[in-house]
Amino acid sequence: MQRMTEEPSSLRLARRCGARTRSGTPCCSPATKGKARCRMHGGAAGHGAPRNERNGNYRHGRYTCEAIAERRRFRDLLRMVRTLDLA
Ligand SMILES: [Zn+2]
Repeated sequence: MQRMTEEPSSLRLARRCGARTRSGTPCCSPATKGKARCRMHGGAAGHGAPRNERNGNYRHGRYTCEAIAERRRFRDLLRMVRTLDLA
């Protein structure tokens, strides 16, 4: 259902918070930038564990956001190249 509110369009188009509410339904408030949760459900700025080497569980950097994203880019590129018909 379309809600009739005065919120700006950037808010209306924002990704929705997927946290489960006490009634069992997803929260559906706009998620904060770059996160999957709204400001009430852990999406607030400064929330969460430190990134990369500042995180206490850091070992060798193989699983940092950057490293994972790099592998993903490479995989996607490889997949793209494989789909090319080189016959
Ligand atoms: Zn939420």
